[in-house]
Amino acid sequence: MPLESEDHDPMMPYQLPFPKDAQDEIVVPSAIPEDERIWVPQTETVSFRPLCLNRGQGYWMNLLRVRQSGVLSRHRHSMPVHGFVLKGRWYYLEHDWEATEGSYVYEPPGETHTLVVPEDVDEMITYFQVNGAMIYVDPYGKVQGYEDVFTKIDMCRKHYAEVGLGEDYVDQFIR
Ligand code: FE
Repeated sequence: MPLESEDHDPMMPYQLPFPKDAQDEIVVPSAIPEDERIWVPQTETVSFRPLCLNRGQGYWMNLLRVRQSGVLSRHRHSMPVHGFVLKGRWYYLEHDWEATEGSYVYEPPGETHTLVVPEDVDEMITYFQVNGAMIYVDPYGKVQGYEDVFTKIDMCRKHYAEVGLGEDYVDQFIR
């Protein structure tokens, strides 16, 4: 913190240009969207809403939504994940705790887990930062597929083209 005596006008905005190579900010006024088309379906019960798809650092910020007691298939993380539960609740088959509305969850690298939304939850929404890749595996770790920021971008493009928003609708979330 600067000493008060050193800042003579605390309400005066910064006067210099930002670095010319800095990227634009992203502001999403309605992060939980009214328009259902913005949710990108992954399965019958699981969909996601992109917020920041960061190509340069290989992570994505998104809202994960699960309806009708869905399951997010077993997967491994080689990079950390941060989650904040906005609505509903869920648990992992591999842990004995439950993430409830308002919970923050940190998942360290090396986690392999299966996310389950209980039957009495109509809708679950969690804000997740996922770094690197989600590697889908069988119960013994045999790799079955993966997702990363690039597969996420591709899914968005395909979906937004199909629902009439246009595949470039996703561009506003890409950095
Ligand atoms: Fe996960």
